[in-house]
Amino acid sequence: MSGIIQLLPDHVANQIAAGEVVQRPASVVKELLENSIDAKSTEIKLVVKDAGKTLIQVIDNGTGMNITDARLCFDRHATSKIRHAEDLFSLDTKGFRGEALASIAAIAHVEMKTKQDQTELGTHIVIEGSKIISQEVAVLPKGTSFIVKNLFFNIPARRNFLKSDTIEMRHIIEEFHRVALAHPKIIFKFYNNTNEVFNLPSSNLRQRIVNIFSGKTNEKLVPINEETEIASVEGFVGKPEFSKKNRSEQYFFVNNRFIKSPYLHHAIISAYEGILKEGLQPVYYLYISVPPHTIDINIHPTKTEIKFENEQLLYAILRSSIKHSLGQFNIAPAFDFDRDANLDIPYHYKDKVAKNPTIEVDRNFNPFLEQSSKKHTSEVKFFEQMYQTSKKDADVLSLKSNFVVEPENITNSLFEEQQREYKTFQIHKKYIISTIKSGVLIINQQRAHQRILYEQFLTHITLHNAPSQQLLFPLNLNFLPEEIMLISEIETTLNILGFIFEINSDYISVSGIPVGVAESDVQAVLCQLLDDLKTEVPGVGLNQNDFIAKSMSKSLSIKTGGYLTENEQENIVNSLFSCKEPGFSPFQKSTFITIRLDELDKKFIL
Ligand code: ADP
Ligand code: MG
Repeated sequence: MSGIIQLLPDHVANQIAAGEVVQRPASVVKELLENSIDAKSTEIKLVVKDAGKTLIQVIDNGTGMNITDARLCFDRHATSKIRHAEDLFSLDTKGFRGEALASIAAIAHVEMKTKQDQTELGTHIVIEGSKIISQEVAVLPKGTSFIVKNLFFNIPARRNFLKSDTIEMRHIIEEFHRVALAHPKIIFKFYNNTNEVFNLPSSNLRQRIVNIFSGKTNEKLVPINEETEIASVEGFVGKPEFSKKNRSEQYFFVNNRFIKSPYLHHAIISAYEGILKEGLQPVYYLYISVPPHTIDINIHPTKTEIKFENEQLLYAILRSSIKHSLGQFNIAPAFDFDRDANLDIPYHYKDKVAKNPTIEVDRNFNPFLEQSSKKHTSEVKFFEQMYQTSKKDADVLSLKSNFVVEPENITNSLFEEQQREYKTFQIHKKYIISTIKSGVLIINQQRAHQRILYEQFLTHITLHNAPSQQLLFPLNLNFLPEEIMLISEIETTLNILGFIFEINSDYISVSGIPVGVAESDVQAVLCQLLDDLKTEVPGVGLNQNDFIAKSMSKSLSIKTGGYLTENEQENIVNSLFSCKEPGFSPFQKSTFITIRLDELDKKFIL
C-alpha cells in the first residue's frame, strides 16, 4: 500500500525556502550585494526601479563564475563558501547557506551575466521561477551582473503584501546602509529610476559614515577603540546631544556583518545611562571583531542574529569602552582620572588565578626631596589627579593605602598632617564628602557600596575564588517549596559565592557562608534574592550571575542612615574608585557628583 507522504518538487521547496530568505525587494538587494562582496569586488553598482518591485540590478567587478558554477549557483544548498559543517565556525564570507540565489530564482525573473578574469568569454543565463530559460556564451566584462525582475510574479499573495514604494525604498536604503557601512573600502553606486542616490568612494570608516549620513554627522561622532584578548571594538558613538527619538542610525557589526543583538544594544545604551534624556536613543556605528570560532551565525536565515561564546564579556567590554570614550570627550559626568589599562577586560577570564596585590615600597623615600625614585603605580596616579597633591603626597598616600609598611623616613606627625588634607566627612548618614583638585566630591554611600560589592561578587563568581567561612553549627532556614526550587536553580552560583548548604524539602541547612557576610544577615540576603527572582521580568534579567551579584549588593550594602567611621568612609572612597565603573551603582544610579570650585564661586558672587 502506498503512503501519503511525497517529496516536494524542487521548485516548490525553493519557493517555500524563498519565503524565509526573501521577504521584500530589500532582501534581494542584501543577498546580491553580499554575494558581490564575497566575490571580492572593489566596486558595486546597485540599480532599482519602482522600489525594486520591477527591477533590481547589481553589477560587480568581482571574481565572476565559470560556466559550471554559473549554472550550479541557482541550485539549493549550492555554495562555494563552506564545505564542511566545521567551516561554519571559521567564516569570513557573508553567505554560506547557498540558498539565496535558488530562492530568488524561484520567485522572480532572473538574468545573470558573469565572467572570470582569466577566461575570454562569460556566461549569460536566464532563469524564471526556477526554470532555466536560456544559457549562452557571451562577451562580457569581468565580474557578475544580476538582474532580478518582477519579484513574486508567481506568488500574488506576497506581491500584494508589499508596501508602498516609499516604504519598500526605505527598506532598500537601510540594507544598502548596512552593507556600505560594513565595507568602507568598496566603491558603491546606487541609482533609483536613473536618479543617483549614493555615490560612495573608497574611504575610511568616518568618511563613509559622513558620506552616507551627510557632512553634519562628522561633529557628532566620538571614536571608540578598544583591543582586548577576546574582542576588539572600533567605530563611533554619537554625542548625547545628537541623540534621536527613534532607533535609526544604530549600527552594530560583528566581523563586518550587520547584527541585531538586543543584549549588546542594551550594553551600548547603558553606557549612556545618566547622560541621555528619557526616551532618546543614541546613534552608534560599532564594529566588533571576534575570532570566528567564538560565534555562531547559523541561527537565522537572514543571518542577522548570532550567538556569542563570550556574550557577557562582550557586554562589559562594549559598555566600558563606550563609557570611557564618552568620558574622554568630556561627555560623561566630568571626572578626570586616568584609566588603568589593566582594567580593560572587565572581569578576568574564568579560571585565571587572581594575583595577590604586590606592594612596592621605596625604603630610601624622603618626602622632603622633590625627586623621588619611586615608580608610580596607577593608584598613585589616580590620587595625584584626584586630590590636590604633590608628588610626595601621592607617595605617602600610596603607602597608606597599602597599609603595610611605614617607611623609616616618614615621621608620624608628617603622616597625620598629610592625612588631614584628604579628610572625608559623612553628612546626614547618607553622603560622604571629600575635596578634590577641581572642587568637592559628594558620594552616595549606599550606591557606592553597592557598586563595590557588586564588582566584588562578580569577580568572585567569575574567578571561582570566593572564600567561605564554616559555621560552627549549621543554620536551618525555612522556605516555601517554590522558594526551595528557586534556590536549587541557583545553587551552583551560591556555592561559588561561598554559601555551602544542603537542600531539604522545606528548609536548607547552611554550613558555610561567604567571608564578610554575617551569620545574622544570611536569611535577609537569601530572602531578598528570592524576592528579586520572583519579581524578575522574564527576558529582562540579563544573566543569573549578574542578577545574583546585584541582589546581594543591594541587601549587603551600607544603607542610608548607617553611621560610618572615618576609616570606613575612606575605605569606601578608595574602593569605589578602584571599581571598573565607579560612576554608577549596579542599578544605574549615579554614585557621586562633583561640584566644581567655579560653580561654588558663582554661588558666592554676592
Ligand atoms: P551563498 O552566498 O550562501 O554561498 P548564494 O545562493 O547567495 O549562496 O550563492 C551561491 C554561490 O554562487 C556562491 O557561493 C558563489 O560561489 C556564487 N556567486 C553568487 N553571486 C556571485 C557573484 N556576484 N560573484 C561571484 N560568484 C557569485
Ligand atoms: Mg549569498
